[in-house]
Amino acid sequence: MISVVIPSFNEEENIFEAAKAISAVLAGSEYELIFVDDGSTDGTWEKISEASADPHIRGLRFSRNFGKESAIRAGLEAASGDAAVVIDCDLQHPPQVIPEMIEKWKNGAKVVEGKKSARGSKGSSYSVFAAAFNSVMTRATGFDMSGASDFMLLDRDAVKAVLSYGENGSFFRALAQYVGFESDKVYYDVAERERGSGKWTFFKLVSYAVKNIASFTSAPLLLGLALGTPVIAAAVVLFILKWCKVPLGSFSAGVITLMLIGGLILVTLGVAGYYLSRIYDEIKRRPKYIISADTKERK
Ligand code: UDP
Ligand code: MG
Repeated sequence: MISVVIPSFNEEENIFEAAKAISAVLAGSEYELIFVDDGSTDGTWEKISEASADPHIRGLRFSRNFGKESAIRAGLEAASGDAAVVIDCDLQHPPQVIPEMIEKWKNGAKVVEGKKSARGSKGSSYSVFAAAFNSVMTRATGFDMSGASDFMLLDRDAVKAVLSYGENGSFFRALAQYVGFESDKVYYDVAERERGSGKWTFFKLVSYAVKNIASFTSAPLLLGLALGTPVIAAAVVLFILKWCKVPLGSFSAGVITLMLIGGLILVTLGVAGYYLSRIYDEIKRRPKYIISADTKERK
C-alpha cells in the first residue's frame, strides 16, 4: 500500500484537482491520500472534508499554521503504507512521476528522491538563491542536494528512521538522505502553479534557508577560531620581526599588541562557540545509528 502525504496551506482551489490527479495515477493499487491542512484560513479544510467522502482520502487539520515541515511530519506519522510519497498540493510536482518512483522502490530503493531537472525555472533571482542554498546544504550534509525537493518516496523503514529524528528544526529533504539507506532518483520538470499563489515570501525563504543550514552544520559558530588563529599567528610573527629590529613601517608595537588582543578575543569566542556547537549537537538527541537489516528477522 502507498500513502501519499500532501501538505496543504490555503489551497482551496487545488484540493480536488490534486486528489483527482493523484488518485488517477494510483488507481488499481492500494493507496491512501493524506491531506494535512496546515492551518489554512480559506476553504481548504471544507474541501478536504468533502473530498474525504472517498474512502481513500483522509484529512488532518492543524490548529494553526505550523509550516510545511511539520505538515510533512504529521502526514508521515499518520501514514500506514509500505511506502509514503510526499508531494505538493499545487501539482507543481507531477503525479505522473509517482509510478516511476514506485518502480524504483520495488527494485530495492528505500528512498526515491524527486530531482528538479535543470529546465524547471522560477525566475533568475529565485534560481540563484536556490542554487546557493542547495550548494551550502550539499556541503553541510555531504549529500548532493542540487535540484532537491520535498517530492520523494520513502519506504516504511526510511519513514521510521526520519521520524526517529526528534529535533524541532528538522529539514525533511536533507534528513531523508541523511538517514542512509539505498536511494535512487527520478527527474521531473517543475510545472507552473495554475491555481492559488506561492506561499513563500523572500523573508520566509531566507529564514528557512538559515534555519536549515544551521540544523545541519555548526560551522558558523567556529568562525571566531578560523579568524582569530591567523591574526594571532601574524601578530606573533610581527612581534618577532620587531624584536629582531626588522623595519616594519606602520606596524608599531601598539598595533601589534592590538592585533594580539583582537586575535585572542576571537579565539576565545571561537572556543565558546565550539562548546556551544557541542551542546547544540547533543540537545538534538539524534539517533546514534539506524539499522537497515538484521539477520535475526530472516529466521
Ligand atoms: N505549504 C504548507 N505550509 C506552509 C507553506 C506551504 O503546507 O506554511 C504547502 C503548500 O500548500 C504546498 C507546498 O507546501 O502544497 C509548497 O508550497 P508552495 O507551492 O507555496 O511553495 P513552492 O512551490 O514555491 O516551493
Ligand atoms: Mg508550489
